[in-house]
Amino acid sequence: GETIRLLSSSQVITSVVSVVKELIENSLDASATGIDIKLENYGFSKIEVRDNGSGIKVDDVPVMAIKHYTSKISSSEDLERLTTYGFRGEALGSICSISEVLVTTKTAADDFSIQYALDSNGHVTSKKPSHLGQGTTVTVLNLFKNLPVRKQFYSTSRKCKEELKKVQDLLTAYGIIKPDLRITLTHNKAVIWQKTRVSDHKMACMSVLGTAVMSSMVPFQHCCEYPEINLSGFLPKAESDNSLTSLSSSERSFIFINNRPVLQKEILKESVLLAVENVLKSLYGPLPAAVPGESNKTDVTSEDMFVHRTDQTDVAVNEMGPSGNDEL
Ligand code: ADP
Ligand code: MG
Repeated sequence: GETIRLLSSSQVITSVVSVVKELIENSLDASATGIDIKLENYGFSKIEVRDNGSGIKVDDVPVMAIKHYTSKISSSEDLERLTTYGFRGEALGSICSISEVLVTTKTAADDFSIQYALDSNGHVTSKKPSHLGQGTTVTVLNLFKNLPVRKQFYSTSRKCKEELKKVQDLLTAYGIIKPDLRITLTHNKAVIWQKTRVSDHKMACMSVLGTAVMSSMVPFQHCCEYPEINLSGFLPKAESDNSLTSLSSSERSFIFINNRPVLQKEILKESVLLAVENVLKSLYGPLPAAVPGESNKTDVTSEDMFVHRTDQTDVAVNEMGPSGNDEL
């Protein structure tokens, strides 16, 4: 039992960045408008994600980190119109089995926040009142404590720095998709990355990427035969001068599927449609033949709303998420 649980957890949670991603998505699902991420020792000693979202109801606390518990789906109809990032109830439980987890939370109805300590099965072992405002703070200590090989893999300073860079890339991506979200990233007590609330996606890009990088990219939006799947993002201009920015072309590619960042920097302009077609084929079987000159084209415009917000997350994207690309 223990071994199987550890095995499945270590597939969901493979790195610091995957913990951060799961926690941020929970915060976004809880309608947070501000998220503060604090890392110590590149996240291996401590990862803390604090949000100002809805908080967790007292009744939900005992089950929140039990595998396959989710407060987000209650009927099969819900499954067909998913509007949240999470729905499998796997993340928090998985994180518990490979680290020490504290959850501090307060809803609008609560008088004060309570900090809960969870054991490796996701059960609450102790609780105490605390002083935080509305929202949830998840603290993850000693990640991979029981996975020495995984821990060893991240023991070099190069690996650690790469991991920190991936966290920043992830925040950059969420910063772009969520203009009205405030984010800070602190490492060993120093704020190393932040984004303020802005009014639209273009401003969000400016603020996280800077104007020089922005001017070397084009937004794209692609609607395919499957209306539930929306592909959007930013790609480097074909003729762009790399010397203008410190970022390479692949670092200037941001691809979102239904508002979820795809962390696969190798995907470049030419291969995007191919990559997506492959995903669709694997999920839905062969594509219907495209009608020439219709719908099967990519719209590249440099103005207006470039990131199409369907605010819909679907099963397909989740299925491709952690296992479908090596970065997560
Ligand atoms: P899922 O997101 O798939 O539901 P998780 O394991 O990520 O599963 O989270 C389990 C449950 O814990 C969620 O369904 C939610 O009820 C609660 N939860 C976790 N993080 C937060 C948060 N930051 N704010 C509010 N509720 C949360
Ligand atoms: Mg979740």
